[in-house]
Amino acid sequence: KEPTDINGLADEYLRLAYHGLRAKDKSFNATLNTDFDKTIGKVNMVPQDIGRVVLNLITNAFYAVDERKKQGCEPFEPTLTLTTRKKGDTIVISVKDNGNGIPQSILDKIFQPFFTTKPTGQGTGLGLSLAYDIIAAHEGRLSVETKEGEGTEFHIELPV
Ligand code: ADP
Ligand code: MG
Repeated sequence: KEPTDINGLADEYLRLAYHGLRAKDKSFNATLNTDFDKTIGKVNMVPQDIGRVVLNLITNAFYAVDERKKQGCEPFEPTLTLTTRKKGDTIVISVKDNGNGIPQSILDKIFQPFFTTKPTGQGTGLGLSLAYDIIAAHEGRLSVETKEGEGTEFHIELPV
């Protein structure tokens, strides 16, 4: 583990993921919002591992908003919001999207390895299970809030 600037890391992965997607698909676009807590300072973590978790959540969020946009039945502005907060001895990194949300019927399965709703070749179903393990190894917590038709927000909690 090493002291890591989580705001810088999160911002870097957000931009990387966005530009990567746009390079593959010129029609892809999304509004990116960031709301970083400047008081966080450096936090001990394995930066590559936490970076991977953040990237997985961001990639899922982009996929979700793109899906909703492709349905094309409403005026829709794909939006991703990345937030960091310090709450006592815990830092929280949140990734929020305004995609279709996760149906209640599959909510208890999304952290299972190989669970995916994506077409063959588009998802391994390993992203969230890996994320869960990495956050557990950091003695943190990974949680989700979702509402069908409104969107999804994942929270990574890490001890300072
Ligand atoms: P994959 O992305 O390869 O499908 P993940 O483990 O990352 O695997 O995600 C598992 C499943 O959880 C996805 O297939 C999708 O059904 C659901 N999911 C994850 N993130 C979101 C999100 N932001 N919005 C809607 N569904 C999501
Ligand atoms: Mg994924």
